Amino acid sequence: MHEWALAEAVTRTVEELVLSGRDVKSVEVVLGELQAVDEEVFRTALEELLSSLRAEKGISVESFTITREKALFRCNVCGSTWTLDEWSVGEEFREAIHFVPEVVHSHYSCPKCGSRDFEIVKGRGVQVRVR
Ligand SMILES: [Zn+2]
Repeated sequence: MHEWALAEAVTRTVEELVLSGRDVKSVEVVLGELQAVDEEVFRTALEELLSSLRAEKGISVESFTITREKALFRCNVCGSTWTLDEWSVGEEFREAIHFVPEVVHSHYSCPKCGSRDFEIVKGRGVQVRVR
């Protein structure tokens, strides 16, 4: 995903919340581990967009943080769960899931029982939490 487009989406969410009467003090953006986002580029983009939100619309947030959510997988056959760290799939898995997510199920399998019928429980997508 493009970092600037993502930062714009986050900024728009903040703006909409504030306009709808919500008091937004801090923003936490949770990026899934499997989400291809350059954190530094994203941080810079978000800083810049939030400061123009303040300059142009008078909407300011005190702070924002970026956290990464660890990926979690669950096997539909044996029920075991595992993280990316526990899985000896390496970099090529990350590449595959970024570019062709469908390929993941034909090339990777449950570390316990070997089934290819597993799901990605966590680690994809982006969430915005405000306080
Ligand atoms: Zn299994």
